[in-house]
Amino acid sequence: MNSSNLKKVTYTINTIIIFIVLGMMFFFSTCPAPFLVYFSIPTLIVYLIGYVLIHKEKLYFYVWMVYIWITLYMFLTTICLGYNYGFHLYSLSMIPIIYYTNYMGYKINTKTINAGVFSVVILLAYLGCTFYVTSFGPIYQGSELSAALFWIVNSIIVFFFLIYYTRLLIKNIITSEDKLREMSYVDRLTGLYNRHYMMEMLEKVMTASETDTVAMIDIDDFKKINDTYGHNAGDCVLKKLSDIMRTLCPDVVISRWGGEEFLLLIGETSDAKDKMEQLRRMVEKEDFTFEGKKIHVTITIGLASKESSQSLDQWIQSADNRLYAGKNNGKNAVIGF
Ligand code: GH3
Ligand code: MG
Ligand code: MG
Repeated sequence: MNSSNLKKVTYTINTIIIFIVLGMMFFFSTCPAPFLVYFSIPTLIVYLIGYVLIHKEKLYFYVWMVYIWITLYMFLTTICLGYNYGFHLYSLSMIPIIYYTNYMGYKINTKTINAGVFSVVILLAYLGCTFYVTSFGPIYQGSELSAALFWIVNSIIVFFFLIYYTRLLIKNIITSEDKLREMSYVDRLTGLYNRHYMMEMLEKVMTASETDTVAMIDIDDFKKINDTYGHNAGDCVLKKLSDIMRTLCPDVVISRWGGEEFLLLIGETSDAKDKMEQLRRMVEKEDFTFEGKKIHVTITIGLASKESSQSLDQWIQSADNRLYAGKNNGKNAVIGF
């Protein structure tokens, strides 16, 4: 959520609160608590000032003002009517809201309320008003029916805020975790999966019954490419080769295994070798150009199918061994089974 979205959400919440205050004002006029009807007027003024603060993007002051006012409102209504009207419950729903405000402040990098300190203030107000009411009784005595009605309405509002904000917090956590996980699985230069992700995939495959194949691919004489054309040219080759592999093998899990090495997890298929031969030829023919200079690129590939007697390391090692056999045999080759 960016700051303009946050502004919109705050406008909406401010408006909802105004409607709640107006509704409460009407309810207070039906029970003998004239003070609370009068108190609703400064309360409405506070929320009207709230609109101005939101408009001027003074969310920090808005948040302080509103939270202090809600705490005061909860405190006074409980003292006036007693806790069987359920106004003290608002203190519970305020906790996730305060922590959410804290989180949003962190996210959009702005100064915000100290949630820990404010939670203690709410707890003290909560204990203070319940202590007063249990010791001296409420200031006004309303009917049992109005108490029951208030209890129901207040409970619904409190539960709504509790559920809404807790859900919002959890949704944000899940979204952030998904984003982080995705980032931690992808190589930044090539956009391919990284070694960490490939290891997780291979571990899963090890427990399955299919006979999958892996291909270890290494660019030939890559050091020479870097030395001749520069490191940026080398990076460009890595990216271009990654694009070629992605286009040619859309169903294959492709990872950047190391510097200029790639490990491909090819599913259970009989044409893995043909496919890799096709890739090798394609790379050999492709024009890799960097700043107008043509770079000749070739790759060597080692293939290995999973054998039931092998561990994961042994499986990868056998692809690696074939790759190095290809390197020793003049490079630009596919060594399979
Ligand atoms: P061979 O044919 O035997 O594979 O030889 P090679 O030169 O490709 O292999 P070698 O292991 O000697 O060199 C690999 C080079 O890859 C060394 C390293 O600087 C370079 N390299 C590793 N990662 C990157 C990278 O992200 N970008 C660039 N430009 N170069 C990289
Ligand atoms: Mg190499
Ligand atoms: Mg290498």
